Amino acid sequence: MVVALNNVNHALEAIPNAYQTALAQYDRAVQHLDIDDNVIEYMRWPRREFTVNFPVRRDDGRVEMFTGYRVHHSTVLGPSKGGIRYSLDVTLDEVRALAMWMTWKCALVQLPYGGAKGGVLVDPKSMSQAELERLTRRYASELIPLMSPHADIPAPDMGTNPQMMAWIMDTYSMTVGYSVPAVVTGKPVNVGGSLGRNEATGRGVIVCMVEALKRQGYTDKENIRIVIQGFGNVGSHAAAYAHDLGYKVTAVSDVNGGIHNPNGLDIPAVRKYYAENRMLKDFPGADNVTNAELLVLPCDVLVPAAMEGQITRNNAPNIKAKMIVEGANGPTTPEADDILDDRGIYLVPDILANAGGVIVSYFEWVQDLQAFFWDEEEVYRQLQRILLRSYDTTANMAEKHGVTMRMAAQMSAIERVGKALMTRGFYP
Ligand code: GLU
Repeated sequence: MVVALNNVNHALEAIPNAYQTALAQYDRAVQHLDIDDNVIEYMRWPRREFTVNFPVRRDDGRVEMFTGYRVHHSTVLGPSKGGIRYSLDVTLDEVRALAMWMTWKCALVQLPYGGAKGGVLVDPKSMSQAELERLTRRYASELIPLMSPHADIPAPDMGTNPQMMAWIMDTYSMTVGYSVPAVVTGKPVNVGGSLGRNEATGRGVIVCMVEALKRQGYTDKENIRIVIQGFGNVGSHAAAYAHDLGYKVTAVSDVNGGIHNPNGLDIPAVRKYYAENRMLKDFPGADNVTNAELLVLPCDVLVPAAMEGQITRNNAPNIKAKMIVEGANGPTTPEADDILDDRGIYLVPDILANAGGVIVSYFEWVQDLQAFFWDEEEVYRQLQRILLRSYDTTANMAEKHGVTMRMAAQMSAIERVGKALMTRGFYP
């Protein structure tokens, strides 16, 4: 029996529309650029959008229908690249926004990729491992007409993990008849994944934070208090790396709320507690805080590493951080950007700060294509090199045009794609 479509969108009204944010950022950035109007219009549109409705058999024998998307925003600089998200908040507009941000992110850090994103409307926590495997394999098989190491290369995002990437790789490989590790990144290391990929996004956030602090003249790292929203793949690794480097992480949160200790949290103990209890609440020696309270805590650096639309015109006036380093994609709305800028809060934008993930995905793809694998030291050395070069490009652009780091990052990315498009020309 087939039951109703699983497309409940429970929190839609709470989250500002991400695609409107992405388009507003784009429209602002292109005003500062000298690019042909036809090129500006072309880059504003997703190249293709794919919607699939597909069945998954639940463990009790019922068959349930699910909806998934894959949007390719751009393939101008190379195959499209971007993660797959499993969440009940997924909408086509959200996927469009995330795909567009992938285009700018890859272009900013000079990877030979366009941008894409996928999403399935599902709460992965509501499924058994066997159900998740069937869902992932069926979604992957629906994407086969779009996917290949030279066309579109998925990766993990919110709600997905390395095991799911292994199922995607296996589904693709079984279909074509031979193993193709380069079709997806973020895989486990034993099936062609890269060392350092899991940690890469969180680590990259902190590499950018350290660079930002240095450039802003902060020297005493023991006195830098960092607040991190989100304790998933980005937030937890960012917290761990910041702690290892000797910074004080004073608050962290997950979807259910967070914990705060103004003297600094023992992050290894927090990670252990989280692994055992699947929540942060009631961690000994810290106060519980809500996510709304966490964003406005007194601190030096705020790292929103949860999801889009968290810093809005409503809370931006109350943020006490001196600096924001965006671990999530699109956590700040354009209105909030203006408020933060007026208030002199320095912001390192998402497409730079969280690019570590896709940079190491690129290393993974290169290693798979060459069948030659690097050690962890090499991965981190190359990651640092690319991030610092991209930071420099962005900071120079910001200085040259007298604009914010967000504007500068968008401008240099859009300019790069626009110039390549002009060189290639319009087909036919
Ligand atoms: N989902 C990650 C992002 O938003 C990584 C994408 C990738 O590695 O392709 O950047």
